[in-house]
Amino acid sequence: MEFQFNKLDVREEEIFAELHHYLLRKNNRYLTNDEIVEKTGVAPQLLYKWAKQGKFKATIFPNIGAPCERCGTLTRTRICHHCATNLTQTLEKEARDKEWFEQIQAKRKHTYHRK
Ligand SMILES: [Zn+2]
Repeated sequence: MEFQFNKLDVREEEIFAELHHYLLRKNNRYLTNDEIVEKTGVAPQLLYKWAKQGKFKATIFPNIGAPCERCGTLTRTRICHHCATNLTQTLEKEARDKEWFEQIQAKRKHTYHRK
């Protein structure tokens, strides 16, 4: 299997179309990122980009993904589920802290005006 991935006149979409076609073959659906890079010579960055764009359906290609931007775990979104949960919790905590802080500020303001 020889792909001309480095040819300058080959556009990304064309590379994707060719890769997608290759991956749809019977035994290629379960290839992992590393195996695809190794077998086809496609740049991992392109593979990750496409994975994040949702070009590889999870039901068809269960082993393709892109590293989470926070921890590097293979995922299909910008950050993995674990990090997303953590991030949500952090944001919720920040929101609570902010609310608490605003309450304190409001109290102070109130106290100040009473003087
Ligand atoms: Zn993560």
